[in-house]
Amino acid sequence: MEPFRGSFTPASPISEAGIAAAVEVLRSGRLHRYSAAEGETPAAARLERAFADWQGARYALAVASGGQALQIALRAVGVSAGDPVLMNAWTLAPVPGAIACLGACPVLVETTPDLVIDLADLDAKAQESGARVLLLSHMRGHLCDMDALADWAEARGVTVVEDCAHAMGGLWRDRRAGSIGQIGCFSTQSYKHVDSGEGGLLVTDDDVVAARATVLSGSYMMYPRHGAGPPDGAFADARLDMPNGSARMDNLRAAILLPQLAALPDNVARWNALHDTAADAISEADAVALPQPLPAARRVGSSLQFRLPGLSSDVCEGFVGAAGRLGVVVAWYGAAEPSGYVSAHASWRYAGAQPLPRTDAILATLFDLRLPLHLTPACGAQIGAILAHCAEAARTGRAA
Ligand SMILES: *Cc1c(COP(=O)(O)O)cnc(C)c1O
Repeated sequence: MEPFRGSFTPASPISEAGIAAAVEVLRSGRLHRYSAAEGETPAAARLERAFADWQGARYALAVASGGQALQIALRAVGVSAGDPVLMNAWTLAPVPGAIACLGACPVLVETTPDLVIDLADLDAKAQESGARVLLLSHMRGHLCDMDALADWAEARGVTVVEDCAHAMGGLWRDRRAGSIGQIGCFSTQSYKHVDSGEGGLLVTDDDVVAARATVLSGSYMMYPRHGAGPPDGAFADARLDMPNGSARMDNLRAAILLPQLAALPDNVARWNALHDTAADAISEADAVALPQPLPAARRVGSSLQFRLPGLSSDVCEGFVGAAGRLGVVVAWYGAAEPSGYVSAHASWRYAGAQPLPRTDAILATLFDLRLPLHLTPACGAQIGAILAHCAEAARTGRAA
């Protein structure tokens, strides 16, 4: 089999429009979001306006990272040290990290074979723990039944913070991911759907939550200079109650992001075409199980997940090695040790050991690869064919 010779490291250049906007900020010398010239709306404020409009949200706040957006969101909805916070057991480390960095306690909820939160276990864990907040990670863009989730949250009085690090541009029916819970949090880090190196965004329709989040992000008393913030009256308590967490976004990164927001719909279509060619090719192998999306969910296919049910851990390890020798680097959630960007819940020692037998059974044979946009659909087909070949070799015990 011909190896794949492309790279999985994102390598899409910043557009000329983004470069020009960045140079303009550099020439002005006004990199800090509150250092505007007379009559000027700085890029950070313009990004907030544009992102609120894109999301169909009342308020948007630009911050230093996706992880900071999560911490700010949790604190803004009232989470304090010692509080239990529900979250999906299958996600990446910034999610339990955000909860633990507030001194709060992650309560891990089981994952279904379709890679979404298990709503029955969610209800059980909510009752057991008494948690009033759910940090719902739309991990790898897979959306659970958001109608059922919203009904459940309302009935139980649970506040939902959506982690949309992999779901910017995703939809549930005609609603954007991140606009269903009380707050939606996004990352603009290089491996997500828009790229400013590091960065984050947060949206909400709630005046007081928006005001609290703004002060937490480090606004001092300059909150009126935000691009899509609540009326000044909403800050009456927040400006005195909330600590300044110094997690602002600067104008340079905001300037780079603005043109990317306009390009997002096209990029979502390209991602889905790339994903679907890879998924079609890999599904040729009997060994492979792909997660099934719900009909109302429109995912962004910026990564590919699949399972090889029934294969032992030795065979899974052999599969990762064989695919790697053919140029396709896959992450495996069943590995004993955390590695690269992947870690399973057992390695989040700060969260305390929590039994999750159903999640463990899924993670044991779950694989993941990111599909950066410089890859073409032809690359997707080749990657899928290599994975199908290695999966069949693993299932039948042949050498790949
Ligand atoms: C990347 C990521 C985050 C955090 O984003 P950063 O901008 O890197 O802090 C949060 N949740 C998930 C699931 C992520 O993958």
